[in-house]
Amino acid sequence: MIRVASIGECMLELALGTTPSAPARFGFGGDTLNTAVYLARALAGRQATVSYVTALGDDPFSTEMIAAWEAEGVDTGAVARIADALPGLYLIRTDAAGERAFYYWRESAAARRMLDDGRDLALAERLRDYDLVYLSGITLGVLHDERRRKLMRLLESLAGSGTRVAFDTNFRPRLWPDPELARRAWRTVAAVAATALPSLDDERALFGDASTAAVADRWLGWGVAEVVVKDGPRPCLVADAGGRTAVAPEPVRDVVDTTAAGDSFNGGYLAARLLGAAPAAAAAEGHRVAARVIGARGAIVPRDATDS
Ligand code: ADP
Repeated sequence: MIRVASIGECMLELALGTTPSAPARFGFGGDTLNTAVYLARALAGRQATVSYVTALGDDPFSTEMIAAWEAEGVDTGAVARIADALPGLYLIRTDAAGERAFYYWRESAAARRMLDDGRDLALAERLRDYDLVYLSGITLGVLHDERRRKLMRLLESLAGSGTRVAFDTNFRPRLWPDPELARRAWRTVAAVAATALPSLDDERALFGDASTAAVADRWLGWGVAEVVVKDGPRPCLVADAGGRTAVAPEPVRDVVDTTAAGDSFNGGYLAARLLGAAPAAAAAEGHRVAARVIGARGAIVPRDATDS
C-alpha cells in the first residue's frame, strides 16, 4: 500500500469574462492540489492513497471543492473544516490584449489555520505511516511564524519515523515580505527533505543562480539526497549521490497553457518514484505528464488528456 500526502492551500478561482457582459467562470486552484490530482491519476488502479491536507470552511464552496477532489480520487479525510472560516479567493482578469492579472484575497483563508487547535498533532499521528509528504514554498509562505514552525515540527516528526519529505520551491514574491525569509525557509526544509524539486527560474530569483547545476549544488550541499531542477522547455537536471543526468522534455508543438506545468511534473515524477522507478526514468515520466498538461487549457486538464 502506497500512502502519499500533499499539504497546502487551494483557493476559489473566479475568472472574469473578457467583456463586462461575458459570464465569469468559477473554479478552484492551488499548486499542491494540482500535484495531488496528478499523483492520484498516476497511481489510479494501484494500492495507493493520495491525501490532500488543508483546511476549508463549512460553506457550500468548500463542500463543492471536496466533492471535486474526491471525484479525482484524492482522499479528503485529512481536510479540516473550520466553522467560522472561508477558503481564500482569487480573481483572474484578462485585458483586451489577452494578458491575465491575478488578484488575491487569502490573508484570512481557512488554510492558514490548518495546523491550529491541535490539528498539527493530529496530523503527525495520521500521516505517521505515510511513505511521502509533499509541500511547496507556497505552503510555507501562507503559514507565518509560529504556524510555519509547527509545520516544520510536523515534517521533522514525520521524517523521523521514515516518511520522505518532498519539496518544490514555487517561490511567489508576494507571499514573502522579505526574500531572505524564503531563503531561510528553504534551508530549514532542506534539513528534513529527501527530495527537492526546484525550478531554475525560482532559484534564480532568490539566489541569482546561472544554471541548473548551481541549483543542484546548493540543495545537495544542504543535505538533500535527491534533487531535480526543472527548467521549462529545457532538460531538467537529476542529481543524487549516483551522479547527474540531464533529462530532456518531450517536444510540445502547441503549448496551450503552461499553468501547473511544474506541479504536474512533480505528480508524475513522485508517482513513478513511489512505484520504484529510478530518478532519471521518473523525470521522463514527469515530463510526459507535464507535456499533456501544457497541451490543454487549465491547471487540471481532462482526465483523458493525461491517460495516454
Ligand atoms: P514551473 O511550472 O514550476 O515554472 P517549468 O516551467 O520549469 O515549471 O516546467 C516544468 C515542466 O513542464 C518542465 O520540466 C517540462 O517537463 C514541462 N514544460 C514546461 N514548458 C515546456 C515547453 N515549452 N515545452 C515542453 N515542456 C515544457
